[in-house]
Amino acid sequence: MGAPGTTTSRPRPGNGEDGWEYVTYAPSGEQCTACGSGIEPFDPVRRATVAREPGRTVAVYRHIGACPSTHAATA
Ligand SMILES: [Zn+2]
Repeated sequence: MGAPGTTTSRPRPGNGEDGWEYVTYAPSGEQCTACGSGIEPFDPVRRATVAREPGRTVAVYRHIGACPSTHAATA
C-alpha cells in the first residue's frame, strides 16, 4: 500500500544522488551543475543545496533526466 494522498509516485533520490531535494524551476541565470549549460526559465530542474563553505549552503540546480544536447540552436 502506498502513502495516502500521494499524487506523484517517483522514487526518492537516495542511492547515487547527493541531496537533490525536489523538482522546481531555477531562477534566471542559473546553470546546470551537470552540463554547465544555462537553464532556461521554464526548464524543470532538480534543486539541491550544497555546502560550499562551512556553515554556508547554496542552492544548485540540475536538469531533470538527460541534459539537453549542446548542439541546441541559440537563436
Ligand atoms: Zn544539464
